[in-house]
Amino acid sequence: MLKLEQLIFNPFSENTYILYDDTKECVIIDPGCSNKGEEDRLFGFIDSHQLKPLMAINTHGHVDHIIGNEAVKKRYGIPVAAHPDTKPDFIQAKRHGAWLGLSPDGEFPLPDIDLKDNEIIKVGESTLEVICTPGHARGSVSLYAEIEGWVFTGDALFNRSIGRTDLAGGDFRQLIESIKERLFLLPDDTEVFSGHGESTTIFDEQRYNMFLG
Ligand SMILES: [Zn+2]
Ligand SMILES: [Zn+2]
Repeated sequence: MLKLEQLIFNPFSENTYILYDDTKECVIIDPGCSNKGEEDRLFGFIDSHQLKPLMAINTHGHVDHIIGNEAVKKRYGIPVAAHPDTKPDFIQAKRHGAWLGLSPDGEFPLPDIDLKDNEIIKVGESTLEVICTPGHARGSVSLYAEIEGWVFTGDALFNRSIGRTDLAGGDFRQLIESIKERLFLLPDDTEVFSGHGESTTIFDEQRYNMFLG
């Protein structure tokens, strides 16, 4: 069974998740650490638990979710995985970051590994399935941990809300379709961990999310 550590980083209160198990293998979902103090918190958790990072996985290419990629790559020599459709957002991330006031001095290396729909990523003795959920951003993916009953949705689905679709590559209809035709097919009791805010469940969002009525 995977264990989960949630860290909240950068001015956008972005959720970075570390998934690991007793084998000590781990993956980092959306490293959003944006300064030395935040990097130290991320590295401190990984190092004090003697974890072995396999890769970082980006749910999408917005700057608040990828700003820590370079630091994590440097520290652990690991690849970054993302859907290939995210590439335009990586290329624009520095400009986008400056526009949002994040003024990153680092670089935004392009992802090393291209994720595909329904691909299975092994983490220790568990698995993550890639589920394409575009609409908030190009190439957005969710990651489903079947054994644990968890799904990491990035900025597609939030507790009682959905991702904005007014940024480049956003598409409202596509987002609604991603949520209803992909995420809502997961078991009702699946716990949803979003890119911002509190966790929820598929059941609760089917019942109470006013954007999806
Ligand atoms: Zn986003
Ligand atoms: Zn975000």
